[in-house]
Amino acid sequence: QQKSCMSLATAPDRKPKVKFAKIFINNEFVNSVSGKTFPTINPSTGEVICEVAEGDKADVNRAVAAARQAFRLGSPWRRMDASTRGVLLNRLADLIERDRAYLASLETLDNGKPYSASLNVDLELTIRCYRYYAGWADKNQGKTIPIHGDFFCYTRHEPVGVCGQIIPWNFPLLMQAWKLAPALATGNTVVMKLAEQTPLTGLFVAELIKEAGFPPGVVNIITGYGPTAGAAIAEHMDVDKVAFTGSTEVGQLIGQMAAKSNLKRTTLELGGKSPNIILSDCDLDLAVEQAHFGLFFNQGQCCIAGSRVFVEEKVYKEFVERSVERAKKRTVGDPYDEKNEQGPQVDDAQFEKVMSMISSGKKDGAKLLYGGNRVGDRGYFIQPTVFADVQDNMKIAKEEIFGPVMQIMKFKTLDEVIQRSNDGTVYGLGAAIMTKDLDRALYLSNSMRAGTVWVNCFDVFDAASPFGGYKMSGNGRELGEYGLQAYTEVKSVIIKIPQKNS
Ligand code: NAD
Repeated sequence: QQKSCMSLATAPDRKPKVKFAKIFINNEFVNSVSGKTFPTINPSTGEVICEVAEGDKADVNRAVAAARQAFRLGSPWRRMDASTRGVLLNRLADLIERDRAYLASLETLDNGKPYSASLNVDLELTIRCYRYYAGWADKNQGKTIPIHGDFFCYTRHEPVGVCGQIIPWNFPLLMQAWKLAPALATGNTVVMKLAEQTPLTGLFVAELIKEAGFPPGVVNIITGYGPTAGAAIAEHMDVDKVAFTGSTEVGQLIGQMAAKSNLKRTTLELGGKSPNIILSDCDLDLAVEQAHFGLFFNQGQCCIAGSRVFVEEKVYKEFVERSVERAKKRTVGDPYDEKNEQGPQVDDAQFEKVMSMISSGKKDGAKLLYGGNRVGDRGYFIQPTVFADVQDNMKIAKEEIFGPVMQIMKFKTLDEVIQRSNDGTVYGLGAAIMTKDLDRALYLSNSMRAGTVWVNCFDVFDAASPFGGYKMSGNGRELGEYGLQAYTEVKSVIIKIPQKNS
């Protein structure tokens, strides 16, 4: 996918100027109430890029008040035609497209992902997501329902109200789009908290939201930390819904805070430990490449990374050898350099976590066939790492690593691999199957307890296709028509009429 888009490449700006580093409320950039700031770091060097306003509860209160005011009956936003909301979303997509190379450069600076990926994957999918939901704005319609008696019954799909949205750092622009686009298409107002590791691109989009013509208060964006600003959103009595993407641990906290405060609606998109099942009849070249891509893409920092590669016994040895060869060829380094496939991990905390998981794999007796070390002496670069002979009970087979570390395991029968795929972890986000046998592909894809199943491919994302998890990978679905439900309250209106006729 990454390669096929490369022709669109536009030269990166290696030193993109940071234009916005404050909180965005009522279409204005403001300092935090406390006046505090925090640094955002360039993960390629470990150096501070700039200071960013540190919002907390007081700022969330101001943002929620602005969002509530923008949502009041009779407000410009509530009076706006649904189709006009779609026009504004399309305009936002146009503006992001106009500033695509700048935004991609800034994303790479703050997150560390290769520029080619920022430009051709993150920006491409972000723009498409806004355009997709622009189209839904005037199509989220209710029904008329034939009920008993002399009554007229219809449903309205109304916005939920003020939506809190808390996003992670692995796809900053894309996660922002996944949350903002459906919320705005359906007429909600938003208080969004960006990840503290990657606040810069989301703030630039705030300026574009203003330029596109969204009324003040419709979108408010807070920069700050999770336990302060994030928790203030989840606990707020005047926030109607919270949408969260991040770790399962924090997702559980969000659920508790939402329930304890005002039972706000929650959608949670959490961790994963997705099985990637390689059957012996598959196209092995394709399987090796897709397994590599499915794990190492985005420095391994994907919730849906194919981090348990189950390989059928007959092709196990060959698959392992070829996967190691492929990992050895993976180029790691300066993310602005087009030849590099892999940049740094997002920060020192993630770097340390991944290194400790590698130690745990070695200690538990998995076979380390390649990698395992830091690359260079500054920034947070890690070698592509491959473990074989991984056992289901090892920590590296059960827990999310969120780094460039591949676990390969052997299996014999389909029923065995189904059981291990489904029961081996608490997660159920994704699964993939590599086979040429349609019967086996369908049997396995129906058997996976996972929200997305890919057959002979990996990481194929589309704004039209729903995404979310079974089990502890989350609640609810984002994207597609299904994604509208999370931002809609259904109201039944029942009217007494003099005489009903069929
Ligand atoms: P996290 O869950 O701590 O952070 C995600 C978002 O939640 C951030 O905006 C953060 O500020 C906010 N947050 C943190 N604590 C909060 C709280 N108490 N209340 C409200 N909001 C809070 O994730 P992380 O620390 O950045 O990464 C830890 C692990 O989470 C990773 O190693 C990875 O396994 C997983 N992760 C998953 C995803 C995903 O897409 N599913 C994304 C990022 C991280």
